[in-house]
Amino acid sequence: MTKLKMWDPNKWNESELEWEKSAREAKKNNPIKMLSVLPKMVGITPETAKFLKWKSLWWMITKDKDWKVFKGFFKRPFKHIYRLLSSALKTRPYVRKDDFFFYGIKNTKEFENLLTKDNTILILGFSYCHKPFECPSGRFTPNCISDLENPVCRQCFIGKAVHAGKEKQTIPLFIPTIHYIGQKVFEIVEQHPKHEIIFIITACEMTLEMFGDWGNMAGIKGIGVRLDGRICNTMKAFALSENGIKPGLTVVTDETQGLIMSLLKCRKQRHLTFFEGK
Ligand code: SF4
Repeated sequence: MTKLKMWDPNKWNESELEWEKSAREAKKNNPIKMLSVLPKMVGITPETAKFLKWKSLWWMITKDKDWKVFKGFFKRPFKHIYRLLSSALKTRPYVRKDDFFFYGIKNTKEFENLLTKDNTILILGFSYCHKPFECPSGRFTPNCISDLENPVCRQCFIGKAVHAGKEKQTIPLFIPTIHYIGQKVFEIVEQHPKHEIIFIITACEMTLEMFGDWGNMAGIKGIGVRLDGRICNTMKAFALSENGIKPGLTVVTDETQGLIMSLLKCRKQRHLTFFEGK
């Protein structure tokens, strides 16, 4: 198998072509399980959509083992309550354009401006449900070895994005539960008081809807990327998934993968790309 070099930000297209060639080679010898067709599923079932904000509040409070999220919350209670209420009183906590849900910003151009700033820390987060079944780090874990020599990692979009986006002010996270990401966000905000925290995080539409107010409460800006495939669109499926029971595979669509790669290119080159249509 050919050895992949480090992703050169100044030769982005060449690096991407090299990655794709290597992915095809890995697929030929060790194909991983993928969805043969994208199932047509509603983002949130009508029954689940009822009182969703209350369901999310209930989930955040009752499932917060060791009060990990609420310890962060109570470090600045007044600020957090004010932001949470301000967000909750809006019709939607985000602005949506196709698969991108914008929090605290209105569009990709605004986000690209943040990506090029030196005082930002980027959280690059991936929900565990789109890790391959064969993932060497396990699916329901906060781990990812993203091993360039591993044929599974080479076919994995998470591996590609982590490899391409690697730099000192980008923090990759692999998200098993909503409380895990909540705790991590509070920690990162606390550890970087002089920086603005921004994010690109993949998640099901239901999660982006349910926990948008909580992201706004933490005062971070960014993009939630909607997953497709075998998503969770009921509370029952969501609850099972939060406990590691997720027999289906979710995916970032090819087009949206391309948009994420453009954002990572913008970040690495500190240069605006302003791609069309977003
Ligand atoms: S890149 Fe990470 S998530 Fe993807 S298969 Fe490898 S270890 Fe798993």
